[in-house]
Amino acid sequence: MKKLEDYVVSIPDFPEPGIIFRDVTSVLQDADGLNLAIHLLMEKLEGLDFDVIAGAESRGFIFGMPLAYNLHKPFIPVRKKGKLPRETVSASYELEYGTAEIEIHKDAILPGQKVVLIDDLIATGGTSKAMIQLVESLGGIVVKNLFLMELAGLNGRAKLEGYNVDSVIVYD
Ligand code: 5GP
Repeated sequence: MKKLEDYVVSIPDFPEPGIIFRDVTSVLQDADGLNLAIHLLMEKLEGLDFDVIAGAESRGFIFGMPLAYNLHKPFIPVRKKGKLPRETVSASYELEYGTAEIEIHKDAILPGQKVVLIDDLIATGGTSKAMIQLVESLGGIVVKNLFLMELAGLNGRAKLEGYNVDSVIVYD
């Protein structure tokens, strides 16, 4: 039986020289890979008490939605700036060159709600830290940061110290 790692194609020098890109489209385009990925993420949420799943644009949508649907929870899209039509809160974070800004609707999370954050991959942790800021600015409580993949060498966990961080596959 294949492991999830077997479905992930690693692409050297993408999008820049020296970066090994861990591609999830190779997981998604195989029915067994997709099924296994969702199954393993679901396992990570077993027994966890939470109210809402929020996913980062855009690969966090792909993995967050099936979990929310299967567990009968709401799904909150965390979007890049300027995409959401109603009143939003926003948070910025550092990229290698410049900054990025993400947003959620102000009424998406209620004070005291327990939130699971999901993305396909954690690298430096910058995206996740900004998502945590958004949730907390609305009074939500982040109970877990869940990823399909983690690039441990970039030490994103340090940026999320004090929070529950969990990944299905950990690369050195
Ligand atoms: P961070 O903010 O933790 O540095 O970067 C994580 C974000 O960058 C995630 O939204 C993720 O989708 C994207 N990302 C960075 N490197 C990779 C990679 O190797 N593979 C994939 N699939 N996404 C990546």
